[in-house]
Amino acid sequence: MATATAPREFKNFLNGEWLEARGGRALEDRNPANAEELVGIFPASGKEDVALAVDAAKAAFHRWRLTPAPKRAEILFRAAEILLHRKEEYARDMTREMGKVLAETRGDVQEAIDMTYLMAGEGRRLFGQTTPSELPSKFAMSVRVPAGIAGLITPWNFPMAIPSWKAAPALVCGNTAVLKPAEDTPLSAYHFAQALAEAGLPAGVLNVVFGEGPEAGAAILDHPAVNVISFTGSTEVGRIVSQACAPSFKKCHLEMGGKNIIVVMEDANIDLAVDGALWGAFGTTGQRCTAASRIAVQKGVYREFAEKFIERAKSLRVGDGLNPATQMGPCISETQLKTVMKYVEIGRGEGAKLASGGHRLEGGAYAKGWFHEPTVFTDCDPQMRVCQEEIFGPVVCLIPFRTFEDAMAIANGVTYGLSASLYTRDVNLAFRAQRDFETGIVYVNAPTIGAEVHLPFGGTKNTGNGHRESGLAALDFYSDYKTLYVDYSDRLQRAQIDNA
Ligand code: NAD
Repeated sequence: MATATAPREFKNFLNGEWLEARGGRALEDRNPANAEELVGIFPASGKEDVALAVDAAKAAFHRWRLTPAPKRAEILFRAAEILLHRKEEYARDMTREMGKVLAETRGDVQEAIDMTYLMAGEGRRLFGQTTPSELPSKFAMSVRVPAGIAGLITPWNFPMAIPSWKAAPALVCGNTAVLKPAEDTPLSAYHFAQALAEAGLPAGVLNVVFGEGPEAGAAILDHPAVNVISFTGSTEVGRIVSQACAPSFKKCHLEMGGKNIIVVMEDANIDLAVDGALWGAFGTTGQRCTAASRIAVQKGVYREFAEKFIERAKSLRVGDGLNPATQMGPCISETQLKTVMKYVEIGRGEGAKLASGGHRLEGGAYAKGWFHEPTVFTDCDPQMRVCQEEIFGPVVCLIPFRTFEDAMAIANGVTYGLSASLYTRDVNLAFRAQRDFETGIVYVNAPTIGAEVHLPFGGTKNTGNGHRESGLAALDFYSDYKTLYVDYSDRLQRAQIDNA
């Protein structure tokens, strides 16, 4: 029997209704700052639940694609208003399930609001191209049509922003969708879906199936009626997703891991670079795909930078993200904490100098959570595993370098290509770096994190497969071009032949 203190049990969102999963298994959503706190219980859905969700999305598709885009957009606009109204409540819940500090969870909800408003605006644009025909009395244009039934699979580090990055453009383009949020952060996705439902989204247009990746996620990938997949997560799982999509030619968008760098030149404003590096490395406890986990500093300012940076890293206040004094929250889970601890050992074993941190935080306020010290390795060799592999935690490697060319080689000498940053006052170097960093995102005099929703977001190499999230680029993924020719000459006209 439910009591006042019993954790709330949540259900899947299928065809406009909140329904139990068929299998009856459940997943616990726990607070990483206090693992004894059960935030909620969510269904561990299986193949059958996914099949129901896809059926609902299929049934809704024909009406939704014929709903005028400006009308689809009005629903998104209302959802954005609801999110705005509930921003504080949703941010607090997100801190409880994900751990990042309130300022950042407010930012996460704000990003969902921004994206939902942006896509509401796109409902009155969704431009195609109108262009002259090469033949007389012939009209030529292209329009956007929805890509189909979309499967959306999301990670835990941006629990509402990333679902919104996928769902808002998918819906405004006229697709229907099945969302499978990360196991660790289902509540924020629930809130996002709730806002859309309250805004009047017709039944079946967005369905949410909670559950584990290898079950619920894999069932989405395997379903023959799902023809569009957008995945954000690790490169390892992205490879599985890509392979699962290939046999049936599903349109597949992958946003994966990163090993991002901040390069600090001798002429840079060092205090500004320290501020940026601290935020880039330890914001979201280093658990951003764009987190700066390598900081390359030119030799002339290396010692000065390292001293200032280490001092600031040591003074960061780690704790429960709900406490306004906290600057860095816990790792998302025990597993993630163990990964961080493993990499600290790897770094030490490779000869990286542990300049600060390096330990799990235990006892007292830390006793029930997955806290780790902000950790700085200095004098690192760029080929070390800690400088090559994604750690996804509060660990940063300082790498000394001599010339700008050396810095570019270090920056590009990894298998990932998401975000890179250069601190300099030299305009020529700033432009050379923008040209030469092999990443999807480049910052000058700002850290590697801080994307805005109206610009394309994504990476190269093992970070992405060429598509882009966010901005107008998202419309290109969630719609297909249909090219239309109307010949009003009343005679046969042969392109490339009759007018040659
Ligand atoms: P993950 O790859 O473990 O999981 C991501 C999602 O995939 C989850 O919903 C999970 O349930 C699902 N999944 C797992 N196995 C699956 C399978 N076999 N089939 C289908 N779905 C499956 O990643 P994570 O730990 O949730 O997130 C951290 C990773 O995400 C990091 O590598 C980070 O860099 C990356 N990330 C990338 C971006 C980006 O835009 N490039 C943004 C955020 C996070």
